Amino acid sequence: MSEDPETARQIAELARDSRPLLVLDVDEVLLEFMVPFMRFLDAQGLAFLARSFKLTGNVVDQKTQKPLEQAAVSALLEGFFHAQREWQSAAPGAADAVAGLAAGAEVVLLTAMPHRHRDIRRQHLDALGFPYPLLTTERAKGPALRLLRGEASRPVAFVDDIAHNLVSVRDAVADAHLFNLMSYREMRAFLPPLPDDIVIEDDWAQAAPKIATALGI
Ligand SMILES: [Mg+2]
Repeated sequence: MSEDPETARQIAELARDSRPLLVLDVDEVLLEFMVPFMRFLDAQGLAFLARSFKLTGNVVDQKTQKPLEQAAVSALLEGFFHAQREWQSAAPGAADAVAGLAAGAEVVLLTAMPHRHRDIRRQHLDALGFPYPLLTTERAKGPALRLLRGEASRPVAFVDDIAHNLVSVRDAVADAHLFNLMSYREMRAFLPPLPDDIVIEDDWAQAAPKIATALGI
């Protein structure tokens, strides 16, 4: 997939850094997503039924159990991200773990979210103790990682809950260390099989020392 020109512009604004690079997804990695989204749905008479790894088709009306159409689910997500400061909390242990890693690495947050939500998310991450540069992308994450790493052959680690983001990074940065973290672990049952070299961790307490080792810090 081609690069996102707005993401490239955001990367160009970052200070050049030659330390090991740690790139973190936001939803389900640093911030809770599924649990607050389910509360958001409940407040509107809707529910998420965990039947597969997708939202459309699994968001239903509580009374009729009828699934909402794609356009309605997209509108709900838009509303949720707009109001994220009221709903989303930090994943347990994430702020302290990342602060520890940031002592020896460049930490960059990469969220797959429409660029228009970047400012709201920036404010919310600051409030929750994640003062690291935030990039938004509306395209694949792999090319963004390659651009972020730059010419230096520094170690790279990437953490995400979604398989296709991890695979995208594997395709773009062959030697990246890949970690799968998922705050709402019930969804793990619906993940497609992950490539063998992706390290699956249950929480930040487990993941942080392995990320530090991978980055050599
Ligand atoms: Mg995510």
